[in-house]
Parts: sequence; structure tokens; C-alpha cells
Amino acid sequence: MLKKGNKLYSILTGSCPKCQQESMYVSKNPYKPGHLFRMHERCGHCNTKYKIEPSFFYGAMYVSYGVGIAFAVAVFVIAKLLIGTSLINTFIAIVATMVVFMPVIIRLSRNIWINIFMKYDPKAAVTNKA
Ligand SMILES: [Zn+2]
Repeated sequence: MLKKGNKLYSILTGSCPKCQQESMYVSKNPYKPGHLFRMHERCGHCNTKYKIEPSFFYGAMYVSYGVGIAFAVAVFVIAKLLIGTSLINTFIAIVATMVVFMPVIIRLSRNIWINIFMKYDPKAAVTNKA
């Protein structure tokens, strides 16, 4: 279902938005202490510079609002509508989910953000030069 060449592939795996051949992150695991924000400067495969401009990824904060709300809505639907949890417990579940998934939300937001500005380039995927 998830194929290379699809923006969703780059967003979900954190791979280079241009060639999708390798991860933008030093560690693929966002829960590894100190590694949440550590990214390679350039793609080792197609040489794309990830940080288009200084503080480029600050913009990802706007995306994280949307991603955070999506998570909150999902938890709300599951807890309140499907399980029938009380409102206060639903609220606790939402806060707990946000805290636990914060690293995932932050990375997803960055991936979405960079994919808004760059798109998949099949040529970059095969050749070794951008
Ligand atoms: Zn690349």
C-alpha cells in the first residue's frame, strides 16, 4: 500500500522528501533520548539540503497544531464515542496520549512541513546527484 514516490511514504517514514532513499533523521526512533530533533544536514543519497533556510523547521510548529488536534479527535472518538468513557476520563486520555505521542507528533509535523516544500523526484532516487 505504501509505495515510494508517494508523499505519504516520506511523511510516515521520515525519509528524504526528494529521493525517499534514506532517513532524514540520525536515529529513526524519536524516543531515543536527545535524538528527537537530530537530522542529517543533507541527504546522503541525493544531496538535498533539508533545512531550506535557517529556522526552517519552526514552521513545523503550525503543522503540529493540526496533527495534535487530529490525535486529540481520534482519542476523543475512541474513548467517548466507542468506549463510552466519562468526559473527565476522556480528557485525561487525550492529555496522556499527547504527552506519550509528542515525539511522534513533532516528527510527523516536520515530515509534513518539508513535504509541503519539496516533492518526490524519481530522478533523484536513481542518480546520486541532485
Ligand atoms: Zn534524498
